[in-house]
Amino acid sequence: MNTPYDVAALRRDFPILSDTVYGKPLIYFDNAASSQAPRTVIDEIDRLYLHSKANVHRGVHCLSQKATGAMEASRERVRDFIGAESSDEIIFTRGTTEAINLVASSYGSLLSPGDEIILTQMEHHSNIVPWQLLERRAGIVLKVVPVDDNGVLDMDAFRSLFSERTRLVSVCHVSNVLGTVNPVAEIAAYAHSRGAVVCVDGAQAISHEKIDVRAIGADFYAFSSHKMYGPTGIGILYGRRELLEAMPPYQGGGEMIGHVSFSGTTWADLPYKFEAGTPDYIGAAALAKAIDYMENVGLDRIAAHEQALLQRATEAMLTIPGLRIYGTAPGKAAVISFLIGNAHHYDTGILLDRMGIAVRTGHHCAQPLMERYGIEGTVRAAFALYNTEEEVDIFVKSLRRAADMLL
Ligand SMILES: *Cc1c(COP(=O)(O)O)cnc(C)c1O
Repeated sequence: MNTPYDVAALRRDFPILSDTVYGKPLIYFDNAASSQAPRTVIDEIDRLYLHSKANVHRGVHCLSQKATGAMEASRERVRDFIGAESSDEIIFTRGTTEAINLVASSYGSLLSPGDEIILTQMEHHSNIVPWQLLERRAGIVLKVVPVDDNGVLDMDAFRSLFSERTRLVSVCHVSNVLGTVNPVAEIAAYAHSRGAVVCVDGAQAISHEKIDVRAIGADFYAFSSHKMYGPTGIGILYGRRELLEAMPPYQGGGEMIGHVSFSGTTWADLPYKFEAGTPDYIGAAALAKAIDYMENVGLDRIAAHEQALLQRATEAMLTIPGLRIYGTAPGKAAVISFLIGNAHHYDTGILLDRMGIAVRTGHHCAQPLMERYGIEGTVRAAFALYNTEEEVDIFVKSLRRAADMLL
């Protein structure tokens, strides 16, 4: 099988991939939790710390201007990457979690007791708990779309959950457990026809496919840099201008004000209204390098490569006696959650770790989904642009050995 790009050459861009664990070459399959960063990202962080570390926006001096320039250039890079209309609609946050909390808190404050929000059974805790806080604080009613055995949303149930009081739908674009790619454009179109807005948790989608927030019709779209080959501590909330303008600030502090006075404070314009305090301007600048990297490889080619790995791994894994895969939706992303017989997910993970293979084990911050399947957790392997067929083959062989030991 031909891969559409030279993976071996590209792996040299990721210093950590030549590390060993327990004396074995590292096989890194925990990409759905955090993916590794290429040297261009690491170098940008280095460069900024060495030459441009100064606070943004307030400074007249050269370093501050450079830092501001790098951060604002990144905002524009992100805008272009996700097809937003204006960079005013790009808010820097700490990550997906903070982005969704911002929406729940700020947009949520515009809702009234008895207003309804629709979530799904496959959401990450980041897209459940902020809404539950709002439920407690403001008497909002949460409704949940069920998932079928393959991990596909029940769209009839989705439509039937709407009422006159439905104000917002918040749904993941791609499930971090099942790999299911949800029909977010269809969800958005229906929600809009019923007068509701749509918040999309894009944490898992952003590194696997080309995102166009306007084509999707997303009112909000959230994602994290560290899952898209960028640095930790930075993420994005995209919000439609009209909505962001109507929303009150999320946090108060420096940067987000127009004028402060004890007789009344005014807010800064977008996007700064939502960026209180000193942002992670170095992380923001490095995120732009991660986007450059992905676009240089090509989102389509990354997707094709990951799909090939997914298919190869799935076919081989299913020949292991007792192995069950959770998440078999058509067109799923390159995430495989599984269990072997009655073996505990943690034991499987430990054995694989000893063989140099990093996978995730546990509930993956999706306990309601675990409950849906009547399990406590799974083992999860998730592929990224730098993973190889050889790694998949070693993984399956190692899994077979682990199964022999555990069953
Ligand atoms: C990782 C993840 C989150 C949370 O992202 P953070 O970077 O931890 O804020 C939310 N939703 C999904 C689907 C995720 O995979």
